Amino acid sequence: MTDGLGSFPGGLVLDGQKKRSTLTAIRKTPLSKKLILPLQQHIGEPSTPLVAVGDYVLKGQKIAKANGHVSACLHAPSSGTIVAIDDQPVPHPSGLSAPCVTIETDGEDRWIERQPIHDFTALTEHEVRQRLRDAGIVGLGGAGFPSYIKLNPGVHHHVDTLIINGAECEPYITCDDMIMRERAEGILDGVEIMRYALRVKHCVIAIEDNKPEAISAMEMALKQRPHIEDTIVTVIPTRYPTGSEKQLIQVVTNKQVPSHGLPIDIGIVCHNVGTTYAIGRAISHGEPLISRIVTVTGKDVKHAGNFETLFGTPMDELLAFCETQREPGQPFILGGPMMGYNLSGDHLPVTKTANCIIVGVDEPAPDIKPLPCIRCGECATACPVSLLPQQLYWHSRAKDLDKTREYNLFDCIECGCCSYVCPSKIPLVHYFRFAKTETMNQQQERAKSDVARIRHENRLARLELEKHEKELRHQQRKAALAASQANKENAEPSQSDSQEKK
Ligand code: SF4
Ligand code: SF4
Repeated sequence: MTDGLGSFPGGLVLDGQKKRSTLTAIRKTPLSKKLILPLQQHIGEPSTPLVAVGDYVLKGQKIAKANGHVSACLHAPSSGTIVAIDDQPVPHPSGLSAPCVTIETDGEDRWIERQPIHDFTALTEHEVRQRLRDAGIVGLGGAGFPSYIKLNPGVHHHVDTLIINGAECEPYITCDDMIMRERAEGILDGVEIMRYALRVKHCVIAIEDNKPEAISAMEMALKQRPHIEDTIVTVIPTRYPTGSEKQLIQVVTNKQVPSHGLPIDIGIVCHNVGTTYAIGRAISHGEPLISRIVTVTGKDVKHAGNFETLFGTPMDELLAFCETQREPGQPFILGGPMMGYNLSGDHLPVTKTANCIIVGVDEPAPDIKPLPCIRCGECATACPVSLLPQQLYWHSRAKDLDKTREYNLFDCIECGCCSYVCPSKIPLVHYFRFAKTETMNQQQERAKSDVARIRHENRLARLELEKHEKELRHQQRKAALAASQANKENAEPSQSDSQEKK
């Protein structure tokens, strides 16, 4: 089934460590007494609260609206009372706090009135996208990009292929595998809706060959829907980072997304399987995005598995539910071991992008200090984007940001392959993330000072114009005065006239 597939350079075959969390079915995490909901759980602008402290909210009620085009709505994951709108610690490597809405749940879990759509073809494509925007759907594969935007190709693009990403290439993470095994029907609901919204001809559900149960579940479900034309399950080789969007496209279609380009530029749109399922729930069941499946795994987790968890649930409660041996403050990994990051907070909430929590990796990286680069070139061989990580490292270290851009820093997908193979154990990705942040900060500063300069120049021009107009008015008044003076003098009667009148 892999005949005719494409490939990408580099990449790694890693020990999957996935069995531990796939031995039991998806379970529900108990309802927490407090749900802490960051206003930013997605790429783009934070959402704007629609509630105040003291308000009572129902499960599924919109509590924050999207703020601008690239943003997402937020909904109450359960019924209860808003007890705070303030800064709370959020799951971010910076360890900083951010604005959150906190709900004290009442245990009743009472829904708002849901409005399922039984025939989505009765909606226009625009209405479908609008409903998904209202439902707060974002990419659940890790990025958190608002999904409705990716379902709007615009007038200048034609979408030829929709790819459903079931690769899940990173070790330890199994939430996509389990959702495909158990909720294949729901995923196909989402596929049909997306095909309709995009008016796309072909659809490929791409799954790595280390997930045989998921492959057969999706194939079986597809057989039950013969009306879905031109949609296939494609089995792809297990190799990290096949699940990254551009690499997956290269494997499935043998086409390359141009550097600085988007998949839509070559007529392709890609969505994760979890997102696809959420899209089906939003339209067919009228349910906004209020929960996700989180893999909890690692050697210190007694009951590893996948857990359907309401957003805002404190991670320590989820870990306690799995009987995890973890001391307060002990670090854990959010995401996978390659692209995830270490956190140590105890009450951090589960968010839309929290796909996996690992407590105790099986082979922790030895705690050795990085050694000097020996210029072996291993990092370049492993890079799936054909970058030169060694050169990027030197320039990032020297803070020569122009040079890092010349070496296509922004094509780096932060997969960590280079760091993984580096014999000197140099944390290369950390340097690249730092250089990217610095570059973006610089660009923002530049943009701000450009705006300030333009404002200043506009003000000077306006003052100059006002001065000129004032001068002109003054001249006109002067001329008018002189003219009326002259008129007066001309109009003054002569002596003879006066005598005549007399
Ligand atoms: S793998 Fe490490 S040591 Fe080898 S060239 Fe790259 S950065 Fe240098
Ligand atoms: S982290 Fe970036 S530079 Fe390193 S291998 Fe991945 S894409 Fe290449």
